[in-house]
Amino acid sequence: MDGLMKGKRGLVMGVANDHSIAWGIAKQLADHGAELAFTYQGEAFGRRVKPLADQVGAKQVLSCDVEDSESVASVFDTLKSEWGSLDFVVHAIGFSDRNELKGLYADTTRENFVRTMVISCFSFTEVARGAAALMENGGSMITLTYAGSVRVMPNYNVMGVAKAGLEASVRYLANDFGPRGIRVNGLSAGPVRTLAGAGISDARLMYGYQQRNSPLRRTVSHEEVGRSALYLLSDLSSGVTGEIHYVDSGYHIVSMPTLDELKR
Ligand code: NAD
Repeated sequence: MDGLMKGKRGLVMGVANDHSIAWGIAKQLADHGAELAFTYQGEAFGRRVKPLADQVGAKQVLSCDVEDSESVASVFDTLKSEWGSLDFVVHAIGFSDRNELKGLYADTTRENFVRTMVISCFSFTEVARGAAALMENGGSMITLTYAGSVRVMPNYNVMGVAKAGLEASVRYLANDFGPRGIRVNGLSAGPVRTLAGAGISDARLMYGYQQRNSPLRRTVSHEEVGRSALYLLSDLSSGVTGEIHYVDSGYHIVSMPTLDELKR
């Protein structure tokens, strides 16, 4: 198992700090032998990401704001000149104005709708295009999504709409790149305590609810999300593409709260 990712080089986008889902994934990948590059959004995050990258021996730590296409392109230019090719990508990027992650979805503004879609949905398509150009021998890409894409979750609002678009992008990109041996999948994580997660109003309540009502009666850890990512990015999942894989203690299969909850 230790050498599962040995000889593979990949890019991890979306580490903000050591609570980030992307960091949980990066640690698993590094533990299994992958060589990693990281991006960070702006210098304030860069100061947090660089020591983490050091911990896993990553030499490429690049600034990237996905609102700017040139910034995305420059990451792949650098990787092309430093590495020549790429085996995998982790896209763990999402953003919406926290003032709109509460109240009614119907009140979403045009400005925040567009910004949320660009950062949380379109960026994966742009990243996938840049990455695929470096995947001459095939590869694997994942993005992080949430079940608010297919079912209504309180306060998730426009992020749910963006995640629906993101999941559809996974299927279209999988079909585009499949003939070149490049796989594209989505990892749908249950609630994990992170900076982005804290932006959703009343997230704490939803966290407790899923703990009480998912089949496993708990939420998932960073390590568990990391290990599912490892499966999707390694050759263990070589026949899998275009999939949305849930790592959520089974919460997405239930249609009602537990009887204990109903009687509360
Ligand atoms: P996080 O705050 O640690 O990570 C979000 C990342 O997005 C940060 O690194 C931030 O810098 C980056 N980002 C935002 N705007 C950007 C931009 N313009 N350019 C470049 N990077 C930008 O939180 P997280 O929860 O680890 O989020 C990672 C992904 O996981 C997101 O897509 C999120 O929607 C998804 N997700 C989170 C949960 C959860 O419960 N935390 C559940 C399912 C899916």
